[in-house]
Amino acid sequence: FSQSQGRAVRQQLRFYSSANMSVNLEGNIFVTGTNRGIGLELVKQLAEKTGKEAHIYACCREPEGTSAEALRGLATQYPGKITIIRLDMSDEDSILTAVQAVSEQIQTAGLNLLINNAAINKPDSLAQLSATGKKDMMEVYETNVAGPFLLAKLFHTLLQTAAEGHTSEGDKMSCRRAAIINISTIISSIEKCPETFAQAKMYPYRTSKAALNMLTRCQAEDFKIQNILVTAIHPGWVRTDMGGEQAPLITQDSVHGMLNVISSLSNKDSGMLLDWQGEKIPW
Ligand code: NDP
Repeated sequence: FSQSQGRAVRQQLRFYSSANMSVNLEGNIFVTGTNRGIGLELVKQLAEKTGKEAHIYACCREPEGTSAEALRGLATQYPGKITIIRLDMSDEDSILTAVQAVSEQIQTAGLNLLINNAAINKPDSLAQLSATGKKDMMEVYETNVAGPFLLAKLFHTLLQTAAEGHTSEGDKMSCRRAAIINISTIISSIEKCPETFAQAKMYPYRTSKAALNMLTRCQAEDFKIQNILVTAIHPGWVRTDMGGEQAPLITQDSVHGMLNVISSLSNKDSGMLLDWQGEKIPW
């Protein structure tokens, strides 16, 4: 072994020895876009790594459809720990109905963690977009920005309730207490655009995620007084339907890393954009 190979092996061993470790999260956790990709793996690892008192509200568009088979399998594997919720992030009524259904179940305890994971992308270059591009732009914005905005607005009171349930922690913020995690991307970074543009033009997607970053920053300011943490996280380039076959990361490793990061977030991380390993990404 060369020195660097030895280091790589040690890193892998450390990674796998912590693979089944529990995460410092509890209470009511709401995750969007959980029937496939990163969202499905989030539900799997949250179910595995949280204690008995945690409950996961796992959202998807068609809970009874074939596309949610794997998610239903997880709910069966962890009885009483996962509730599947119907939710279409592009549909205001669907968001209202989902929030109402969950609110009725968690009123007094509140919501500890909202993970806005569901998102869509559209064809790459200008030429590939719909006629004028407006339709693609609006669809992506609706799902990737308006949806997370509405969910946070509608869940705000329940997040506050959860934060107030931990008053003994003073003004300490954490995802165990009350938090919103917005899944963003490195290609939302305006500063990094010269490095990343050529490989992924994606106008609607990039601009929607830059808007999601601003939403994160605004909410972090707005909700600071209530001790609700708000952070945006880039999951890495991950092998999913969206990430494609050539992506270097598998969902298991991305989610393992993100949950470690999410578990350790505190006041200094609110309003930031971090990657799946906890590194800060410039706006
Ligand atoms: P996938 O395309 O594999 O999965 C997207 C998920 O979002 C699906 O569950 C999909 O459900 C759901 N979704 C899409 N539109 C809606 C909607 N209107 N309402 C409800 N659910 C919806 O994506 P990934 O798992 O790769 O991505 C997850 C997150 O990570 C996204 O926010 C993405 O932007 C981000 N990300 C991903 C990267 C990657 O390399 N994969 C890189 C950087 C960021 P359905 O099956 O019904 O369509």
